[in-house]
Amino acid sequence: MRLCRFGNGRLGVVDGDAVRDVTAALEALPVYRHPLPCFDVLIANLETLRPHIQALSRQAQPQPLADLKLLSPVANPGKLIAAPVNYQRHLEEVRGSADLHHDNLIPVIQRAGLFLKATSSLVGAGEGIALRKLDRRTDHEVELAFVIGKQASHVGRGDALAHVAGYCIGLDITIRGPEERSLRKSPDSYSVLGPWLVTADEIPDPGALQLALSVNGQIRQRSSTADLILGVSELIEYASSFYTLYPGDVVFTGTPEGVSPIHPGDVIVASIDGIGTMEVKVRAA
Ligand code: MN
Repeated sequence: MRLCRFGNGRLGVVDGDAVRDVTAALEALPVYRHPLPCFDVLIANLETLRPHIQALSRQAQPQPLADLKLLSPVANPGKLIAAPVNYQRHLEEVRGSADLHHDNLIPVIQRAGLFLKATSSLVGAGEGIALRKLDRRTDHEVELAFVIGKQASHVGRGDALAHVAGYCIGLDITIRGPEERSLRKSPDSYSVLGPWLVTADEIPDPGALQLALSVNGQIRQRSSTADLILGVSELIEYASSFYTLYPGDVVFTGTPEGVSPIHPGDVIVASIDGIGTMEVKVRAA
């Protein structure tokens, strides 16, 4: 199942070039009072709601996907987790360029660990990227992203994939410079997730997906998740050894080589096998 959010917070099932509105399914979600839980309520209840969503989808009129403004498929993630330098050729690219490393020490991911991006940086493909710091180099990074479906703490790699709700394309937009990664990668709109969530049952092996990114029609990044240093299972094992993963937490798995600057007016097209393609426009903030 391909689940999208669009317009003013509506929920849809993607069916080819069309979306079927299933927003009514949200009425079945538990209602909370303050303080709110630190997980995404829809993702936490997705399996329970799935038959209801599918029944509503069969009755709904299809709307053309191209007419809709796509939002982040996860509305309220508790954490945006990201893997630095998780492809060997990207590690070599960063170590080889002062514009990329800025004299920061770039250790391998097993030493560097993971970092967090602000949840306020998250947008969907239809919302676009609003660049701040126009005097600084800002790069695209295309990444396989996955969404946690079940609470996970101290999970071994053998059981890890059972904790995934689904997969998306992620863009980890990055200002280059000497500051901490979490600062440079957390301005509003610098985490793009989309175009929709593909549930995990449609992607049995996340370790063999082609991914690509072009800017204004020019290919910049092309690789395969087979080249990830830590794959999805290893990332869940590693992350859940440090903190509890909750439904709706998003993990950006890292970018392959080919990162390059983006500017207002650019159009990014990113695609991953088995997920789809998304177009994201870049503007000045
Ligand atoms: Mn990244």
